[in-house]
Amino acid sequence: MKIMPMPQDLPEPVLTPNAKTVLSKRYLRKGDDGQPLEDFKTMFWRVAASVAGEEDKYQESSYNSLDLGRSFYQLLVEGKFLPNSPTLMNAGTDLGQLAACFVLPVGDSMDEIFDSIKNAALIHKSGGGTGFSFSRLRPKDSRVGSTGGIASGPLSFLKIFNTATEQVKQGGTRRGANMGILRVDHPDIMDFIRAKERDGELNNFNLSVALTEKFMQSVESGSDYSLTAPQNNQETERLNAREVFSLLVHKAWESGDPGIIFLDRINKDNPTPGLGEMESTNPCGEQPLLPYEACNLGSINLDRFYSPTAEGGIDWEGLREAVHLSVRFLDNVIDLSRYPLERITEMVHKTRKIGLGVMGFADLLFQLRVAYDSHRGLQLGEKIMEFVQRESRSASRILAQERGPFPEYEHSIYARQNLGPYRNATTTTIAPTGTLSIIAGCSSGIEPIFALSFTRQVLDGERLLEVNPHLEEALKNTRSYSDKLMEDVAKKGSIKQMEHLDQDLRDVFVTAMDVPAQYHLKMQAAFQKYTDNAVSKTVNLPFDATQEDVWQIYWMAYEMGCKGVTVYRDGCRAEQVLSTQDGE
Ligand code: ADP
Repeated sequence: MKIMPMPQDLPEPVLTPNAKTVLSKRYLRKGDDGQPLEDFKTMFWRVAASVAGEEDKYQESSYNSLDLGRSFYQLLVEGKFLPNSPTLMNAGTDLGQLAACFVLPVGDSMDEIFDSIKNAALIHKSGGGTGFSFSRLRPKDSRVGSTGGIASGPLSFLKIFNTATEQVKQGGTRRGANMGILRVDHPDIMDFIRAKERDGELNNFNLSVALTEKFMQSVESGSDYSLTAPQNNQETERLNAREVFSLLVHKAWESGDPGIIFLDRINKDNPTPGLGEMESTNPCGEQPLLPYEACNLGSINLDRFYSPTAEGGIDWEGLREAVHLSVRFLDNVIDLSRYPLERITEMVHKTRKIGLGVMGFADLLFQLRVAYDSHRGLQLGEKIMEFVQRESRSASRILAQERGPFPEYEHSIYARQNLGPYRNATTTTIAPTGTLSIIAGCSSGIEPIFALSFTRQVLDGERLLEVNPHLEEALKNTRSYSDKLMEDVAKKGSIKQMEHLDQDLRDVFVTAMDVPAQYHLKMQAAFQKYTDNAVSKTVNLPFDATQEDVWQIYWMAYEMGCKGVTVYRDGCRAEQVLSTQDGE
């Protein structure tokens, strides 16, 4: 692929040592001999220039592609915005698959099941993650008409999907990630809820149970609900909704698996119901999609928009500009990306969904000296996301004027409500930013930081020590600063219990474990209020949290309008991705 020549006067990227390690190992293009074909600067230019190159197609654009390439480059190397990993890896390369999220249908026939496995393999090879609903498969032990045999059910096929994933190392870089969904009214639901009981089973899958509004009402009233066989819509059995909910709570408490999604609520926000129902999300749950739809994500790093002289400490004007550029970037990515299936290309071009979100929120709060678990923290979360959503829609409206609205617009909920026209059926999603936050050197997504100082297990076992730079700076300005203090912080990960430090600092510099579970959830709900798609968020609980605590969190999530919820009780699984030194 031809890429615009790199201007000589571009500034060098500013990268932390961890960012350099991750980029060198996984993102820089390499030759057959394993040696890098590019450095950090040429990598960022490859991405900026190839995405900006799409601009030339649009006569009405007010940008020329070279100037836009420069603006994109600037945005990336200043760490203000990063697109999802496949875009960084594959933009401007022969592979050219740039989206992180896909949902594939799984139909109730051998042909359809194995088509789906094959399509998933193609997507994994290109660096994308896949979500599937297994709800259409007839339950275990039902009759198979064509052979007179007995069906093996969703769970047995899930295992085949899992094994296939294991065998396809993604583009040589990351192993596949999958989401498996089953509706709570599917006859095999109890087996599904217990599917991960054995360690290592279904290791390439996150599982979520899709809860319906009807089911939640049955939980509330304590009544039974029916399980229905999808192949003939016949009731097979009735279960007590509270007992099922209680098992879900128990499993989440025990291992964090499976999670739950509120399916009817997700479909209430489906912008194009004419194209079908949403039945699954992507692997980490933040992006519900229609079958064969894909979405590319990108995240703005809020840490970079702290400005002590601006109103409320936030550079709103800079943020507005970054949001507009990012939306243009992500819309160009849709055209630039080459999808592994024609069906996917067609779907993606019909709805043109993008998912702009934020990362570095906890770092911004540190700089503003606002506690995550406070009323002000929640208010600020809401205010920022409202701003990002409003500006991203305004940017999408401008693109619609230049390039036309997304083709399904006329049949979308926006047309009915006289909103828009927009270029994109959705503009906002909060991704986990697992790797992006390392590259940008900030806290991930909207999560509080895991620890103020910790070793991070990156890339297959390698471990790196990190101290939060804002905390380090704040402590340096106190009388208590010493090497011994920093060692203590590294050991404990938190300063909450350090009584010799100022109360203000101990209130502000909180970690995921310091934040009460209710506040985790309230923050998720605050961001969800202004997010078109969903919000990736983990509600961390202490080891001694009870099952009643989990029940309460699940119920609160439902009442507060979240689209799903993921809880994680500290220490309930053998291997954790992040751990403080104490925990090692
Ligand atoms: P990143 O920081 O690498 O861009 P995120 O942690 O924000 O990625 O995850 C966003 C989405 O990217 C996930 O929900 C999933 O769809 C996809 N994804 C993440 N990790 C993987 C992986 N190892 N393999 C395939 N897809 C992945």
